[in-house]
Amino acid sequence: MRMRKLASIRRIGDIRPIPGADAIECARVDGWEVVVKKGEFQTGDLAVYIEIDAWVPHALVPFLTRGDKIAVYEQVPGARLRTMTLRGQLSQGLLLPLGNLSGEAGTDVTEALGVLKWEMPIPAQLAGQVRGAFPSRVPRTEQERAQNLAESEILAHCPYEVTEKLDGASCTFHLDSEAGFHVCSRNLDLCRDENNTLWKIALEHAVEARMAGQLLLDTAIQGEVIGPGIQGNHYNVRTNQFHVFDIYRAGAGEYLPPDERVRIARDLGLPHAPVLAAKQDCATIAEALALARGLSALIDKPREGVVLKSLEGQRYSFKAINNDFLLKKD
Ligand code: ATP
Ligand code: MN
Repeated sequence: MRMRKLASIRRIGDIRPIPGADAIECARVDGWEVVVKKGEFQTGDLAVYIEIDAWVPHALVPFLTRGDKIAVYEQVPGARLRTMTLRGQLSQGLLLPLGNLSGEAGTDVTEALGVLKWEMPIPAQLAGQVRGAFPSRVPRTEQERAQNLAESEILAHCPYEVTEKLDGASCTFHLDSEAGFHVCSRNLDLCRDENNTLWKIALEHAVEARMAGQLLLDTAIQGEVIGPGIQGNHYNVRTNQFHVFDIYRAGAGEYLPPDERVRIARDLGLPHAPVLAAKQDCATIAEALALARGLSALIDKPREGVVLKSLEGQRYSFKAINNDFLLKKD
């Protein structure tokens, strides 16, 4: 499984009052805003910050789970951290005093605290039989959240391509250096299976033959599959669709630039994830979050967010999730 710093020691950037609230206030931790009990933390304190979508053990934070029914995930009683608003203030994640932990800002304490990444259960037709590990020559499709980045880095990597982040399942088609064809989910290489959603798409679109026809050897085509039964099918599509968002040449160790990626997707007969801006400046986390807002290009509903990919130099990319989407969904 991928490792994310879901819980880490961080320095509190500032604390400010929430209009009309006297028991709570708002702390800023890097790009995150989180509501805390008044007086519990001071600006500049080190504290433990736990991100949204973390599964937090009940034993660690009993107050998250009131009542007698405690949910269980991966055999751990606990609760999932969701986006919420309190007194009109957006709050994402959880801030805890350091307790007996120690370390400098940035120290990962995910494992030490037993925090897990909550994932929506994978439907059987998506899961499939495992053929092996995700190809080691190909990068996974995960993206860091804007709120965890340094603003100096965001500015330094301007300008960006902005594509809509679709809320489905990650899928990688990889024609390896021996012309072996692999269909992979976010973390795994899957056995050929006509009943598997990702393989069905590969077979329907003859992806292997088309990639070979375009001499895309040692190359991975990565995209998002949306459709019935996947993440609630926000897009209301009747059949599964694959939307290309990356093409990686493993031999060169490089992603193709957006214009070539768009052209190859077209040549392969595969749709491309909606391009919202071919070239976009973005200097701050707040700007990235503003770009995330808006409707999906596929349906008249708030989009999940955007992915920004630097147009300069080596790959630098990140996601900004639309807070309207999170509030609605959660
Ligand atoms: P979760 O882990 O809860 O599924 P997530 O979808 O945000 O959250 P991440 O891996 O952190 O998961 O985010 C990146 C994912 O977004 C990629 O794995 C990919 O499947 C998906 N994605 C959708 N649209 C795009 C896009 N336009 N560009 C890049 N990635 C995209
Ligand atoms: Mn996703």
